[in-house]
Amino acid sequence: MARKSPQPKATSFEVLECVQQNCPSCGKPMWNEYNNLRHVRTLKGVVQLLLKIRRCQNRSCERYRIKYRPEQEGSWALPQQEFGLDVIALVGALRYSEHRSVPQIHQQLRDRGIEVSERSVIYLLERYDELVALWLSDHSRLKAIAKKGGYQNP
Ligand SMILES: [Zn+2]
Repeated sequence: MARKSPQPKATSFEVLECVQQNCPSCGKPMWNEYNNLRHVRTLKGVVQLLLKIRRCQNRSCERYRIKYRPEQEGSWALPQQEFGLDVIALVGALRYSEHRSVPQIHQQLRDRGIEVSERSVIYLLERYDELVALWLSDHSRLKAIAKKGGYQNP
């Protein structure tokens, strides 16, 4: 989604390192080749993430020079998204548990200090719906695998 307003100032800062420091393909150490900065708007403010990006340096490896990003990045936000997963979860809860309209959700987010347009609220609701659909399909798939393998859900 194209940005019309300037990026909000970060209120906190986090450094994310890769847990996996060896290449998942060849097992040789991956170098921290460069860092990326990313801003994520969360319910607790705007967080600036410093991402330590690694790459395999083994020329004979199939993952040679392919980026490896910190695993934890995915718990903050979806790829290419500026709003955190916590904001998406709140938007979904307000819509489906509390039956709030888009303008009401928009107002609640603004009351929490989150600068967002109504159009962005609609967009966040769409992301929420996609995540729920993905979870449901994955959950069904996992249940089928567990059943096939004779495992029981607790
Ligand atoms: Zn490798």
